Amino acid sequence: MSEEMKCPATVFFVGSGPGDPELITVKGMKLLKEAEVVVYAGSLVRERVLDFCGNSPEVYNSASMSLAEIVSIMIEAAKSGKKVVRLHTGDPSLYGALREQAEALEKEGIPYGIVPGVSSAFASAAALKRELTLPGVTQTVIFTRLEGRTPVPESERLSALAAHGATICIFLSVAMMDEVVSELSKGYAPEVPVAVVYRASWEDEMVVKGTLADIAAKVRDAGITRQAMIIVGRAIGDGPVERSRLYDPGFKHGYRK
Ligand code: SAH
Repeated sequence: MSEEMKCPATVFFVGSGPGDPELITVKGMKLLKEAEVVVYAGSLVRERVLDFCGNSPEVYNSASMSLAEIVSIMIEAAKSGKKVVRLHTGDPSLYGALREQAEALEKEGIPYGIVPGVSSAFASAAALKRELTLPGVTQTVIFTRLEGRTPVPESERLSALAAHGATICIFLSVAMMDEVVSELSKGYAPEVPVAVVYRASWEDEMVVKGTLADIAAKVRDAGITRQAMIIVGRAIGDGPVERSRLYDPGFKHGYRK
């Protein structure tokens, strides 16, 4: 018997985007339309994306569930032939405990697919109207976080990452702003631009801009303690911009001879 016959339905892990329901992909929206079972993290995924459901699915909020409970819902539903969507906030490949859920499905021989989403890092860059990779400044973006319950390897301490001078997007850390600043200060000058974007793409999105020297106080004054992205690096500043080679008339490439 083929895998497909054993389990007719595929479970889809779908990135629901950063908050604005229109920032889900067309593919993700179509899967929600068809879904018979939807599992979502109520604390992070905006419930408004559930409006795309068109099949009156059973909906589970995973916020208070253990991993075992979440996967057993998905496994049982898939085995009974139901179309399952597991919604993740932003993109599923970042800080989403995706791997452990996927492995549990693999163990049961349940096929699954992953549909990417717009990460909050990109929604935050859009809110700032900034390019994260800026010619003459940096060609590198680092996604990281401060240590919380999940440990971060010693070699990835913010102070070590700061030494690269790249753009750094810091997830899950705005509640520890003082520590973020003290770690970054070991590699960046006090005047390096830092921005904090609260709920990028939501109606109540808030952008706080400053420098390493004053951002912690500004974030405290704004009362932001959660659901925010910290972006640091010269690329997000207002400094002069070097022209990109891509549109340089002297630069020939495959599409411009
Ligand atoms: N997979 C998600 C990240 C999940 S971790 C993604 O790709 O965006 C949760 C963290 O993401 C939050 O602590 C916060 O740092 C960030 N985050 C999620 N949604 C956000 C939003 N709309 N605006 C700013 N930061 C957000």
